[in-house]
Amino acid sequence: MPPEAGGEKPRALVVGAGPAGLMAAGELARAGAAVLLAEARPSPARKLLMAGKSGLNLTRAEDPGPFMAAYGDAAGWLRPIIAAFGADAVQDWARGLGQELFVGSTGRVFPVAMKASPLLRAWLSELDALGVERRTRWRWQGWDDDAALFATPDGVQRVRADATVLAMGGASWSRLGSDGSWAPVLERAGVTLAPFAPANAGLCVTWSAHMAPLFGEPVKGVALLAGASRSRGEFVISGRGLEGGGIYAVFRAVREGAPLLLDLFPDLPEAEIARRLSRPRGKASLSNHLRRALKPGPVRTALLQEFGRPLPADPAALARLVKALPVAHAGPRPLDEAISTAGGVRGAAVDDGLMLTACPGVFCAGEMLDWEAPTGGYLLTGCLATGRWAGRAAARWLRL
Ligand SMILES: Cc1cc2nc3c(=O)[nH]c(=O)nc-3n(C[C@H](O)[C@H](O)[C@H](O)COP(=O)(O)OP(=O)(O)OC[C@H]3O[C@@H](n4cnc5c(N)ncnc54)[C@H](O)[C@@H]3O)c2cc1C
Repeated sequence: MPPEAGGEKPRALVVGAGPAGLMAAGELARAGAAVLLAEARPSPARKLLMAGKSGLNLTRAEDPGPFMAAYGDAAGWLRPIIAAFGADAVQDWARGLGQELFVGSTGRVFPVAMKASPLLRAWLSELDALGVERRTRWRWQGWDDDAALFATPDGVQRVRADATVLAMGGASWSRLGSDGSWAPVLERAGVTLAPFAPANAGLCVTWSAHMAPLFGEPVKGVALLAGASRSRGEFVISGRGLEGGGIYAVFRAVREGAPLLLDLFPDLPEAEIARRLSRPRGKASLSNHLRRALKPGPVRTALLQEFGRPLPADPAALARLVKALPVAHAGPRPLDEAISTAGGVRGAAVDDGLMLTACPGVFCAGEMLDWEAPTGGYLLTGCLATGRWAGRAAARWLRL
């Protein structure tokens, strides 16, 4: 740590200026540490700013039960952390930074400004006022004895800290900074990691030529089923495949091997669909018969033709297909395109304060940790909550 930041205060180093690192830095500074916040990119929180481009979904106004369930099998170890800083606390915190919020129809919470830049500006001013020293273009490379090493434009810098919070993100959208290059360094230090995998990613589909006019079309009113997961969320047909919130909600089950099925008419029971399809068809083609019986519209018709051909003429079999249409996809889009990543530092590699048991005095927060959740505000809430938790635990380690 640079001498001017030291004084008599204990020295804390936070690596990574995304939401988790910013949160940890604030907690440590408020507790009385001299904090150095080091970031590899030329400016902080680039992924947070990108998240704001499509409407910054900060959290979800939802009961704690379903909220925690969104974190799947990580819910166990994350529970106390998110209970201490959940949906209500995130909203209070954002309002405290001057952001007016609104709750969308599905409970998603956004700033009225929709974007992240006003929130980030207020947050950085707060950290400046707390005395947090920021360095950009400082890339953490590991440790040499007890010093953290950074590649910087001025050559290698060595930082000795009494406590460190690592918050370097997952391994997607590497151009925004989170490239997962910390993983082999931590592995060498004896930290157990789960392999990175895409979460909240699109699925690759090799479309037949007749689908091209539908690229960019939203798919609404269709249910997605994969294993035990079910979603009524919208998704989009793109040239590369299928993407969007509905896909992300069932993505984990698909990644783990469950077949993806579409229920094209989730509000109509199969028996009713079969009854309508059993009406006399006359000379109508099967497509025209289907159109008259169910009024599927162009998007549902195209999906049924694409994934269901040759369509069975038997009404019961066709009704079954319409209610559980198997999606022929070629797996997830590449890791770097994923909204978030699964894998990273295993829950079992940290103690109750998110300190690495293999590296005393070093804490982890945010997407570096091995948890995943669907989009919907759960990701930022998880990053903010773990950043706050790790920062507070690091402050206790410093006896502050
Ligand atoms: C397009 C998009 C939209 C999204 N929308 C939402 C949304 O609406 N709601 C939501 O909840 N979530 C959303 N997310 C996810 C959310 O942005 C992330 O989960 C969150 O930013 C992760 O926070 P983090 O602090 O753990 O990591 P990051 O935000 O990735 O920050 C990590 C920081 O560490 C730095 N770093 C990495 N390696 C080093 C190194 N070696 N040395 C120094 N610094 C390093 C990086 O440059 C980066 O600044 C979205 C993501 C994307 C890509």
